[in-house]
Amino acid sequence: MKFGSALIKRHNQLQWVALLAVAVVLPTVTLLWFMSRVVANERLVVRQKLAALYQDKLADATAKTESLYAARLASLDKIKPVTNPYSLFRRLVLEENFQGVVVWDADGSAVYPQSADVAGNDAPSDSPLADARQQEFARQQYSEAAQLYDSLSTHSDPRVALAAMIGKSRCLSKLGRLEESIDECQKAAFAALPDREDPVLRLAVENARLLLLSVLNRSGQSPLHSEILHRTVNALSNDLYNPAGDRALLPANQNLFIAKKVLEALQSSNLAEDAKATDKLTKLAAAEELSIAAAETIRPFSSQFDGFFQTDLDQQRVYGLRHRTQSSTLLVLLSETGIASAFSGYQDTFTGTESAYRILDAAGNFVAGTPRPAGKSFTAAPLPAAFPGWKVELYFEGGDVFEKAARRQIAVYMWTGVLVIVLILMAGGFATRAVGKQIRLSRLKNDFIATVSHELKTPLASMRVLVDTLLEGNVRDEAQAKEYLRLTAKENERLSRMIDNFLTFSRMERNKMAFTLADVRPAAIANDAIESVKTKFVAHNCHFAIDVAEPLPEIQADHDAMVTVLVNLLDNACKYTAEDKQIAVKIFHDPGFVCFAVSDNGIGLTRKHTRRIFDRFYQVDSSLARKAEGCGLGLSIVKFIVDAHKGRIDVESKPGKGSTFTVRIPVVRGNGD
Ligand code: ADP
Repeated sequence: MKFGSALIKRHNQLQWVALLAVAVVLPTVTLLWFMSRVVANERLVVRQKLAALYQDKLADATAKTESLYAARLASLDKIKPVTNPYSLFRRLVLEENFQGVVVWDADGSAVYPQSADVAGNDAPSDSPLADARQQEFARQQYSEAAQLYDSLSTHSDPRVALAAMIGKSRCLSKLGRLEESIDECQKAAFAALPDREDPVLRLAVENARLLLLSVLNRSGQSPLHSEILHRTVNALSNDLYNPAGDRALLPANQNLFIAKKVLEALQSSNLAEDAKATDKLTKLAAAEELSIAAAETIRPFSSQFDGFFQTDLDQQRVYGLRHRTQSSTLLVLLSETGIASAFSGYQDTFTGTESAYRILDAAGNFVAGTPRPAGKSFTAAPLPAAFPGWKVELYFEGGDVFEKAARRQIAVYMWTGVLVIVLILMAGGFATRAVGKQIRLSRLKNDFIATVSHELKTPLASMRVLVDTLLEGNVRDEAQAKEYLRLTAKENERLSRMIDNFLTFSRMERNKMAFTLADVRPAAIANDAIESVKTKFVAHNCHFAIDVAEPLPEIQADHDAMVTVLVNLLDNACKYTAEDKQIAVKIFHDPGFVCFAVSDNGIGLTRKHTRRIFDRFYQVDSSLARKAEGCGLGLSIVKFIVDAHKGRIDVESKPGKGSTFTVRIPVVRGNGD
């Protein structure tokens, strides 16, 4: 029977535990699943958001580049039919920053650059200069040669006269007569030409100037020399890439040759104030060199206009674009660095962001941006029409930004999730404890009912036996009858005390217990309590001592309730003491309190039990088979009453040595304290 009820109890408990587990585990698992879905979604959402953002930026940058190029092409359209190609060349190179230009006329023949054979120094043998040259170059008789040149320097043919002046200057310089050589050379270099358009004369003058530069370089530095040098360089530079005049003064290859010589002279003479001019000249010369190379390899006719194509010129990679105007075909050239600067739109948009861009030409060559970005490009777009087949790719720098951004958001979800799970677990824990307490309480109540029935049954059964015996007259004599009646009275008293306790507890439980407080003498309480347990103490052979430390102040208390307190403590002292019961009551005055101390030499209590003995239904030995009567209510009733009197109860106990329960009740104000 007992085994069966234990099984049912266990079954009920298991049900509760299972229910709680489901209540905690189910929401936790659901939350975890939900979180994993959210995390996956978040990655996708962040990726889409960022990709869309960067696609917009990309479109902006592409639009900027497109409008830049539309403007550049439009400016090419405004080019007038040219007579002097250097005016166009200068503009396109210096203002529009192209690194080369080729202009063809409507028939496809090159207007610029045009090359011509350099006129040699070799004069035919019938030339008036033949003798002088013979002396200078074959015999190396420089002073004789100088004299011969001198005699020809006033020749009626300006070509001969100019060549003679140059020859004389050359010979003088070879003789080390540098000052004279410089004087002579100046005459040729700055000669007033009768025919400015004669290319032979022009070339002779430019040659004289170059010679002057080299002689000046060899001679010592002086203010006069610097001035001449300056003048010569200026004159040369003015003639080079000269936009004035109807047509180019010199063919492109000769122009370039002189430009290089001028640059050499500028470099070796350190003419600081001409740094800007040197810079321009360097740019123009480089562009001219590239233009000459382009004119040799690139043809004006093509299926493709207004779109950049890649080609190699002079072993460098360049980008060319053909453009047709009304009267001519233009080819503009951009070097690798030149074309990279055309993509400032992308640079402005993407520098300072977490992304990197890379521009590739139609052949897949890197052109601008980050040459080797990490990872895979997350989006790409074609460049504007001026760059056919080109594309721009976008990358994320420093790892995947999608992942980073998603991670931030995911961390927020994770922490929220963890917090919720912790809260669920805590709530589960509290619920488990509450349910456990409830289970324990209901078990205690069940035990209580069993105990109450058991406790009531014993005195009732013995009273019934005694009364039946008396009724049947089964007694030897009057003394025995009296003894039976005394025993009946004792059982009755025990029964009453037990019922009193149950009733007090019941009232206590329902908060119905009312106390009538009055000024009471502590000794009176002690006397009534002792009176009540006297018979029992005698029956159990208790050694009892009482010590009342009079005079004691009165306390404000409910007399009967306080008697219940002491009776319960004395009753326990007797119950939980083995043979040779030594029980003592001490009543004494402690400032502000009157103390009732009940001590015994009984079984004592461990620290753990001491903490719990005031709980309802708590018994150290709760088995039904235990010897002592009671149902774990006595001390809870004691504590309830003491608390109601604003007092305190303390226990000092050692297992096997005995216990002392001390009740402190506050003294009535102004009452002996
Ligand atoms: P009970 O009816 O079981 O005596 P009480 O509430 O009076 O219930 O006491 C609770 C428990 O405290 C007892 O079951 C007992 O184990 C322990 N106890 C009470 N008084 C003493 C004491 N004087 N010495 C040792 N144990 C005691």
